[in-house]
Amino acid sequence: MRPPYLLLDIDGVLIPFPNADGSTPATHVRHDVVPTGRSTDNPITVWLHPDHGRLLMDVIRTGLVTPVWCTSWRQDATTLIGPLLGLPTLPHVDLPRPQITTSHPNGYLWKRDHVDAWLVDAPAVWIDDDFTGLDHAWAEERTARGTATLLVQPDPHLGLQPDHLTEVTKWVAQLPTVRAS
Ligand SMILES: [Mg+2]
Repeated sequence: MRPPYLLLDIDGVLIPFPNADGSTPATHVRHDVVPTGRSTDNPITVWLHPDHGRLLMDVIRTGLVTPVWCTSWRQDATTLIGPLLGLPTLPHVDLPRPQITTSHPNGYLWKRDHVDAWLVDAPAVWIDDDFTGLDHAWAEERTARGTATLLVQPDPHLGLQPDHLTEVTKWVAQLPTVRAS
């Protein structure tokens, strides 16, 4: 079996939501970035945890997962956010830009149909803060069909925690064909 994909979201995962008063977590370092299509005199501020790059690399270096960005940052994930965390160039799922006013226009995460088509029958662990019960049911159905699928859902106000990555490595390690290879 191929190593599972590790699908990585950014907003609510690597960039937790700001607090109600607009402040950002003291644990995270603020950076100004200029996303594609924005003028250089109009940057946006992001905040990233300085340990996240190392923690993600600890998982990536095992070679047991294939990391892929899966975020509305699209290509900017690898050109803007990854380098701030010391991450290498990673591929990204080329998500469309739907005109939606909710992230769950059909009751489940808007990215999911695109991810489903992109994965085909590949196993995957997907870290995103915005799954609904229908997404978890999708993952269970996929797993039941023999395509190992794990959803990891950080609290968007806290973002990614070390325990989430421990969960990823434990899950990957127990996949029978990965262990046998
Ligand atoms: Mg998110």
